[in-house]
Amino acid sequence: MKSIALISTPWPLFNRPSIQLGTLKAFLKRALPTVQVEAHHVYLGLAQEIGYSLYGEISERTWLSETPYAALLYPERHEVISRFWARRTSGTALARRSDFKDLCMTLKKASLHILDRYDWDRLLLAGFSVCLGQLTSSLYFIRQIKKRAPSLRIVIGGSACAGEMGESLLENFPEIDYVIRGEGELPLLHLVRLLSEDRTSLPQIPIPGLISRDGVESERSFSQISDLDDLPMPDYTDYFRDLLALAPKRKFSPRISMEISRGCWWRRSSSDGSSGCAFCNLNLQWHGYRAKSNDRVVKELDSLTRQYRTLSVSFMDNLLPPKGLEELFASIGELEKDFRLFSELRATTPRQVLEAMGAAGMRQVQVGIESLSTGLLKKLNKGTTAMDNLEIMRNCESRGLPDLFGNLILEFPSSGEQDVTETMKNLEFAFPFRPLKGIPFWLGYGSPVFLMPKPYGIKPVGNHPFLRHLFPEEILRGLTLMIQGYRGGLRRQHRLWQPVRKKLKEWQSIYHRLHCEKAGSYARTACDPILSYYDGREFTVIRHRQCGTYDMTHRLEGTSRKIFLFCNNQRSMTEILHHFPGFGEDKVSPFLQMMVEKRLMFNEGDRYLSLPVPNGGRRDPE
Ligand code: SF4
Repeated sequence: MKSIALISTPWPLFNRPSIQLGTLKAFLKRALPTVQVEAHHVYLGLAQEIGYSLYGEISERTWLSETPYAALLYPERHEVISRFWARRTSGTALARRSDFKDLCMTLKKASLHILDRYDWDRLLLAGFSVCLGQLTSSLYFIRQIKKRAPSLRIVIGGSACAGEMGESLLENFPEIDYVIRGEGELPLLHLVRLLSEDRTSLPQIPIPGLISRDGVESERSFSQISDLDDLPMPDYTDYFRDLLALAPKRKFSPRISMEISRGCWWRRSSSDGSSGCAFCNLNLQWHGYRAKSNDRVVKELDSLTRQYRTLSVSFMDNLLPPKGLEELFASIGELEKDFRLFSELRATTPRQVLEAMGAAGMRQVQVGIESLSTGLLKKLNKGTTAMDNLEIMRNCESRGLPDLFGNLILEFPSSGEQDVTETMKNLEFAFPFRPLKGIPFWLGYGSPVFLMPKPYGIKPVGNHPFLRHLFPEEILRGLTLMIQGYRGGLRRQHRLWQPVRKKLKEWQSIYHRLHCEKAGSYARTACDPILSYYDGREFTVIRHRQCGTYDMTHRLEGTSRKIFLFCNNQRSMTEILHHFPGFGEDKVSPFLQMMVEKRLMFNEGDRYLSLPVPNGGRRDPE
């Protein structure tokens, strides 16, 4: 039987199988039953070799991920690369204490051991899925495989190969024979079909979505599946077989990866060429937005969890569909399984959708918060406001709703003092909610800022300067890589955002303290929301937890209580006055102002939002 290998090298998260490998394997198996498809999750073997904690720490940081295999690819540059590693690991818990030379040696030994286990010559083709953080490790494995099997054809694809990035890899690394420009299924099927026909050379016909250095003509178009329901369910048998073979003390509870959609509908929504979030380059390998039907998603989730005996599932979508989510998660809930789900979400996701998600087992969500300044959110083209962000952050503090994780983009080009001042002010209102992580802006190849840098006051200057530490100059010159460098206000931005960095640390520490503080004499539990309310029908008690002292409480009665509950969803002054016709703005406004001064409500323009989390959970706000 003819065989092909699909390979994923470090540093994806080790505790879940690669969705790319699983989906491609299932698709090829169904279309070409006479070809055997092996999926090699080599990152799993390497994670257990260096230890899961260290692997996890490296895999969370792109620059660390690309460093050890750069040293293996270019051993003559070990000193330079090692100094770079030392600088980038400061502030890490484990990586900074690990000896870089030893780490490289361990990775080399384990990688060669994996490589020597297989007879690569017997394969028709080896395909690499290359995404963020996987470039140098993929190049190292490709080089080693080509040494062992010089005539084996190598194809690469994935987000790090989109557009010029893939073309430049093909031009600069002679070991690579083909690059898939967009999604992999159709071009790969086409290529494997041709290769399995026992020809001495491939025919001179273009394969849509594939670029090549040999007989097959290059083709710049994409070739995608039109209906995602037509895809077979992902096949993760290889990953789970490898997991089963681990020594008992190395075993862990894995997650399954699943996709509901491909692409981003927010990116599609603009027609002026600058569509989507200004910093985002996540969707270069797709055209348009496609989603599976709800029935298919429920069936797939049920089937995968039954087959692989795990209830932890990560939805890998960049953006879930804009419609039908409440119904989808209600149907998932009807499966009556104790799922532990994860997904990415837009900040505008309504509370009723979050509730359906929570009831279905959504435990964590990564929300595209990015900023707490509406001015900056406009520059980011996020389509959201600071109030939208605070509303979802507050909602996700409620019992039964998923925990929210989000980032705050720092040093975005063109951000100014006003954006920082607005952020600092609004951070005071965000303190009761789960802290955000500050992430300095990086310029992604193909993102709207990269394509139209002028309005942002920057000038792209090619690959990010850090890459000079990882690649020899003569190679780097010909490459176009994911992280790009730019000139324009870098130092100023760093200075400008310094106070926000400090505030984020303070937030982290207060939130952590309040959630770890013993109930003791303050008569509370550590997991209670920091700012919450209990409703007594005629009155409402708001409770604000404080560090090292008793809770501060506020009592609202009568119309004040009703207005406060009405503003559980953000409301305009007009809506409030319309809902409470007996009260004019002269009466309502001072009350709202007092609530804002106490940071119990947030105000933006003429809109108001109550910040305390409903704690009783017995009934909906009025
Ligand atoms: S950040 Fe998310 S919503 Fe924004 S363009 Fe990228 S995928 Fe779409």
